[in-house]
Amino acid sequence: MTRESGDDRHVIEARDVVLSFGQTPALRGASIGVAAGEIVAIMGPSGSGKSTLLHCLAGILVPDSGEIRFDGRRVDTMTETERSSLRRDRFGFVFQFGQLVPELTAEENVALPLLLAGARREGALREARPWFGRLGLDGLERRRSGELSGGQAQRVALARGLVARPKILFADEPTGSLDTLTGEQVMDLLVAGAREQGTTVVIVTHEARVAASADRHVLVRDGRVTSLVPDRVSS
Ligand code: ADP
Repeated sequence: MTRESGDDRHVIEARDVVLSFGQTPALRGASIGVAAGEIVAIMGPSGSGKSTLLHCLAGILVPDSGEIRFDGRRVDTMTETERSSLRRDRFGFVFQFGQLVPELTAEENVALPLLLAGARREGALREARPWFGRLGLDGLERRRSGELSGGQAQRVALARGLVARPKILFADEPTGSLDTLTGEQVMDLLVAGAREQGTTVVIVTHEARVAASADRHVLVRDGRVTSLVPDRVSS
């Protein structure tokens, strides 16, 4: 894929992104760039625009103005079909409440991105299974989400986010529904899994201890990225 333009240090970037929900401005000119393999935490107060920025970067929301680029290619001008293929083929997602499909077993949930990308069932399950040992979930492969604890379900969601070896993992408050210790374990696993396969991570969090595992954090305030802090966050 050839780059159209943009900053070639960045695998994903937003430039001057503006987006309102009706009369409510969510982003007022937000810019951010993330390098390949980097783990970046987006921090800031509730309602400041963090999730909206993540959803714009991930091609879920289209900005009113400004540019989003992935590997130098404009995402904001893609058709819905192109953005949906991009999300399916190149991106992984972990959300606050896991959002596992309740009708599927844990291993089927992990295999889902591979199945959606056209893999055959047995092959997809074969790739999904090693994640259970890696994430301390041995023996839970056949459980459904209702039979898992919050921390277990979130680890299954994490495996689902990483199984297809996405170029970028987008995580929105992935530890927000967990207690401190469980949240730390999930975050450690997320960082280890992403580093192992060189996945870039963009993670929205308001928790300093979560951001402390990132390489860098940025602060969003009133719909803008107000500071880019190169150092690690001290928790
Ligand atoms: P954060 O993730 O920092 O808590 P959000 O990006 O969720 O902030 O929200 C930014 C602003 O946009 C807030 O004022 C919020 O109420 C508003 N907002 C977010 N999503 C929607 C939506 N789907 N419809 C209407 N307003 C929204």
